[in-house]
Parts: sequence; C-alpha cells; structure tokens
Amino acid sequence: MPQTLAAPLLRAQCASILVAAGSAPAEAQQVADNLVLANLSGHDSHGVGMLPRYVDAIAEGGLTPNAGIQVNVDIGTMLAIDGQHGFGQIVGVQAMELGIARAKQHGSCIFTLASAHHLGRIGHFAEMATAQGLVSMHFVNVLSRPNVAPWGGGDGRFGTNPCCIGIPLAGAEPFLLDFATSRVAQGKMRVAHNKGERVPDGYLIDERGMPTNDPGVVVVPQGKGLFGALMTFGEHKGYGMAVACELLGGALTGGGTWHRPADAARTVLNGMLTVLIDPAKLGTQAAFAQEANAFVDWLRQSPPAAGVDHVLIAGEPERAARVARERDGIWLDDATWGEIVASGAKVGVTVKAA
Ligand code: NAD
Repeated sequence: MPQTLAAPLLRAQCASILVAAGSAPAEAQQVADNLVLANLSGHDSHGVGMLPRYVDAIAEGGLTPNAGIQVNVDIGTMLAIDGQHGFGQIVGVQAMELGIARAKQHGSCIFTLASAHHLGRIGHFAEMATAQGLVSMHFVNVLSRPNVAPWGGGDGRFGTNPCCIGIPLAGAEPFLLDFATSRVAQGKMRVAHNKGERVPDGYLIDERGMPTNDPGVVVVPQGKGLFGALMTFGEHKGYGMAVACELLGGALTGGGTWHRPADAARTVLNGMLTVLIDPAKLGTQAAFAQEANAFVDWLRQSPPAAGVDHVLIAGEPERAARVARERDGIWLDDATWGEIVASGAKVGVTVKAA
C-alpha cells in the first residue's frame, strides 16, 4: 500500500536499515537525513527510494560503509580527492567542507572527487557553499547502466549526468539550479510505467532506437533483453552538456567514463568536478550583490504566462516543497515502500509506516 510518513519517522527507519547494513550510527543518520531531505525537496527519484539500491551495493562490494575521503593532491586551491567508494552523502560533504575552507582562504578552490558512491541531490552541495556566501558549480558523471542516448544516436551511452550551479543572493535565498541532463529522470519513468501512463514525445527511444511514448522501455528489458534510452534535455545542447559532465566529472577527476556494455550491478558511482568562488575575495562583492538582486527582481516582474502564477527562480520549487512536505508528510508509492520493507528484511530490520 502507498504510505505517507512524517519526515522524522522516515529518517529513523532508514537509519536503522543502514546501521544493520554496516554503517556506524552517525553515518547512517547523515545518509538518512540526506535522502529524506531529497524527498522533502520534491525529488523522490533521489530520496529514500535509493536505499534498497544502497543496501544491495554494500552486499555487492561497490559501496563501502564508513569510508572517508582520501586527498591525493593538495596544492592549496586545487585538490584531487578520492571518495573511496564511500557513501556520497558522506564523502561529498567531507570534500565540500574542505573545498569551502580553501575557497574562504584563497578566494577560489577547484576540486575533483572521484569514486564517490551515489552523491544524491547535487544541489545539497551547492546549498552548503551558498550558505557560506560562495558560488558553487558542479559537473557530475554517473557510472551505472548507461540510460541516456547521444543526440542523433540510437541507444544509451551515458548516465543522467547532473549539472548544478548555486549562486548566493544577498539577503535572500540563493539561485540553485540543479538538474539531470536527461530530458526527465529515470525514476519518473518508473513511476509512469507503474501507473500505466504514456509520456510526451521527445522523452524516449525504444531498444531499436525508435521514438516511443512507452516509459517501460527504460524500466523493463525489451527485445533481446535490451533497454531503450532517455533523450537529453535541449536536443544537441543538452547532449553537449551531458558530454561535458562525463568528460569533467569522469575523465578529469580520474574516476572514469562509461565505455562498456551495460551490466546488472546495483552500484552507482559518481565523479564530480567542483568550482568554488568567494565573491568577497574577488573585489566585486558590492556590485555582485546589487546586480544579482536587481536582475532577479526584474525577472520576477515578468507578466506570468497563461496558467502560471508567477515567474520562479531556480531553487524556489524545492524550498516550497520542503514547507509542504514537512507539514503533510512524504508520500511513497506502493512499489517504493515495498522495496524499502524488503530491503529492511534483507538486513533483519522490520520497517513500519507508523
Ligand atoms: P528538475 O527537472 O525538477 O529540475 C530541477 C531544477 O529546475 C531545480 O534547480 C529547480 O529549482 C528548477 N526549476 C524547476 N521548475 C522551475 C520553474 N518553474 N522555474 C524556474 N526553475 C525551476 O530536476 P531533475 O533534472 O529531475 O533532477 C533532480 C535531481 O536529481 C537533482 O537534484 C539532481 O542533482 C539529481 N541527480 C543526481 C544524479 C546522481 O547521479 N547523483 C543524477 C541525475 C540527477
């Protein structure tokens, strides 16, 4: 049955599964908090629904509980960091804490993070930086089943490679742009498939490379066991962005790019290039604060299109979702809740919705 759970209960249930799977209590709590925050932010595709995958990835050996970052190169403003297959929610935060301290000290910091297990919502890291007044840019690749097709291509060759830009706004909440470079998230196709829905044109190709409206092509194996693929957003431009994320997040970090046939592994690894800038050190802070706010106000004054309340700034939908879901609880569909219960059972934990 679908369930609606209050955030604190969901956090506690997830943390108990993670402890049973091998995490120390503090790690389990931090990972659970991060996943529930993704649900609260409206991004269920990166929330507690990932937990069963994490439990399987630990069993597979691709995710190492209680691992921390290893800094391989440190020249002050440039860091090469290895996530050592630790939880992305842990090693990503450790890498960001280090990068933020360096950007505060020197004015900027560029770091690579290789071999992190799934980093979840990349916006989480940009939120850490903008809270300290820093600009934060992230280019990420995904080493998992390649489910996104190159523009003009006929099968999946890379992952949903997210890109994120956080910009602090003086006296206001930040601009927080955080998106997958696929037209739509894989998780949203699973939900549509489970509901028997069709999806709009331009989202998908089938296993023969033909356009389709059937989300099942990326959810269940099709002819000869092959999957279809998601399209990138923005046609050739989104495709270019996805490739940039693979080259920067996968190749430049040393974590690796995807160039092999799909496998059935449950492990998801991310590589991330991060660029942090402190406007206070750049000497433009006063102009930056004034011009950024003036521009955002100008955008907000645009007359709303038909059916739209008002123009939004990136980051606002997530903040609004947090208010609503903290109040109303987090709704989990039947399949997601069933997978969490089954995952708990695998490690000897009985999960309850109340
Ligand atoms: P999405 O399509 O919902 O786009 C989200 C972005 O668009 C946000 O910045 C949001 O504030 C902004 N936005 C939404 N509506 C808006 C509007 N009306 N006006 C202005 N801005 C608006 O998100 P997505 O592409 O499905 O990505 C969801 C999450 O998945 C992200 O947090 C991303 O980091 C994460 N992700 C992670 C991985 C990984 O491997 N770790 C891979 C892919 C995606």
